[in-house]
Amino acid sequence: MQSLWNEQEAGKCENELELRVYSSRLLGGDPSLVLHGGGNTSVKIKEKNVVNQEEEILYIKGSGWDLATIKAEGFAPVRLQPMIQLAALDALTDPQMVNELKTQLTRANAPAPSVETILHAVLPFRYVDHTHADAVVTITNTTDGQKRIQDIYKDKVVVIPYVMPGFDLARDVARLFAEQAGPQTIGMILMHHGVFSFADSAQESYERMIQLVDMAERYLAAHNAWEIELTDEEKKIQVNRVEIAKLRKAISVKVGRPMLVHRTQSVRGQCFVQRDDVEKISQQGPVTPDHVIRTKAVPLLGRDVDSYAQQYCKYFNRYEPTAKERKTMLDPAPRVILDQELGLCCVGESAKQAAIVRDIYEHTMECIVRAEQLGGWQTLPLEDLFNIEYWDLEQAKLAKTEASPVFAGEVVLITGAASGIGKASVDSFLRRGAAVVGLDIDECIATVSSEPGFLGIPCDLTDKEQVQTALDQAVSCFGGLDMLVLNAGIFSASAAIADLSLKTWQQVMAINLDANLVLLRECYPLLQHAPNKGRVVVIGSKNVPAPGPGAGAYSASKAALTQLMRIAALEWGKDGIRINALHPNAVFDTGIWTDEILKARAEHYGLSVQQYKTNNVLGVEVRSNQVAELASEMCGTLFDATTAAQVPIDGGNERVV
Ligand code: ZN
Repeated sequence: MQSLWNEQEAGKCENELELRVYSSRLLGGDPSLVLHGGGNTSVKIKEKNVVNQEEEILYIKGSGWDLATIKAEGFAPVRLQPMIQLAALDALTDPQMVNELKTQLTRANAPAPSVETILHAVLPFRYVDHTHADAVVTITNTTDGQKRIQDIYKDKVVVIPYVMPGFDLARDVARLFAEQAGPQTIGMILMHHGVFSFADSAQESYERMIQLVDMAERYLAAHNAWEIELTDEEKKIQVNRVEIAKLRKAISVKVGRPMLVHRTQSVRGQCFVQRDDVEKISQQGPVTPDHVIRTKAVPLLGRDVDSYAQQYCKYFNRYEPTAKERKTMLDPAPRVILDQELGLCCVGESAKQAAIVRDIYEHTMECIVRAEQLGGWQTLPLEDLFNIEYWDLEQAKLAKTEASPVFAGEVVLITGAASGIGKASVDSFLRRGAAVVGLDIDECIATVSSEPGFLGIPCDLTDKEQVQTALDQAVSCFGGLDMLVLNAGIFSASAAIADLSLKTWQQVMAINLDANLVLLRECYPLLQHAPNKGRVVVIGSKNVPAPGPGAGAYSASKAALTQLMRIAALEWGKDGIRINALHPNAVFDTGIWTDEILKARAEHYGLSVQQYKTNNVLGVEVRSNQVAELASEMCGTLFDATTAAQVPIDGGNERVV
């Protein structure tokens, strides 16, 4: 581990708080030190208050901020002296502590100070840095971890046996630090939890952290516990899509709402799962207690969600009576799955959440394997993990200020998603919280959105193999399918029946009709396992109710597709799957309609471009985002009792009315 301190960058900092931001980000940027909101940092600064009195203020990381991206306003300013006085108390309840932290803030709109504020206050150094460094927690989670830590660091650190974070830890640290710290002390090791470093300058405190972690890494290397053997090849196991969808449904039922299941395809995960001792090493606990709120204490081994949930209920019923106040059980579903065939899978309400779980568990596996190579992985007992999992101050980290979006945890597949109505639909569904799989023959589909919940797959829908591969990828990435928007279609050049070649006819049918039959057929078993029941929207055309001369192939294909939709509604109603069609007309804000073409068509009808665009009963322009919004709404609860409907979105067409 090397220091990333950069004199030039640090030189740009104009005050100590800016330096604190700079070095916090250095720590936060290294996932082997902290992950997703883990760790915390502080700086003590003397300031004049509004009545010109000097006060010492502890700037401590605010709850909800991530060290990797923290800014000055992410630090909560708390009066230091009252915090130090609190540490001398024998006991302080959580509500009392939260109240004290809040009432000693000097900025009304500051974030909630970290639950480790009092601990930071009692350490007599200007800068204090705290991480959950992999190498350190690995060693502390071994059978003889404390002895090893003492061997490595000698008088450089004060070793703190595990105590639940919060006031009790701060009080113990205050006592142990006073008793044991000497001139050599540069840090503290918290068993089963993490590491602190401190100094009076930002650089020294940061570099002491790097030094302490580096010593742990070298120790692991010297004890043949650094290098991990991975088989080079990822095992390409083909897993039945429906099997994955069933697993996702079982999990969603236990959670009580739809969840995504992301198959990580991690080589490390695959190797970990294949180990003979996977049960023993995976069923203990996380590397540091606060991961428990993201990953639960242990992963599901295999796919038996019911028995995992039963075990979870047992765990809750066993430890809940020991809690100080009564607790309500969280959902009993796993967040990490280790399966012989599927490898490492991660569960989340969004792709972002599943990715957080993946990052944490990737590091967890690395730590476990190294600890095993060092002599034996051993985590905290379940009772301690329970206390963290059900600690209000930990759960507060997950508390959301807003309700989940309507399609949170759900997956939609949209065809023809690189442009026009398809692309607009990608945005509409992403905005509603769905994970979106976009298919398009245009390669640019891969980059249509940079949201973590978007997967763009180039795919020729007339190629059955490509469709199968795309569906495999979609299910691997998100766990199943809840909604389907059949949008892809082509409009061939105008041709009267007398001149319509069979080739043109078949080309149009292949995309507008045959491909949709294949998709409906292949997606049906997935939609059957949608936790909130499957929904399909077919993008039809005004040409279905009001065909135009010269558009024989197109009109016939969309009419046949509409008929197929009606039959699917009849066949799938028993599964609760709803399927409806939209019939848009004259949607011109798509790639096909360039200014030149628009002008030419308008002239053809003797209209101005604006007249041509708004040539309908309402005299309005119909835009692709309006069609997309309606398609999304049709998958929502407003249309819960509607199937086989055909809804025009055309500004009113005299021939349809
Ligand atoms: Zn910590």
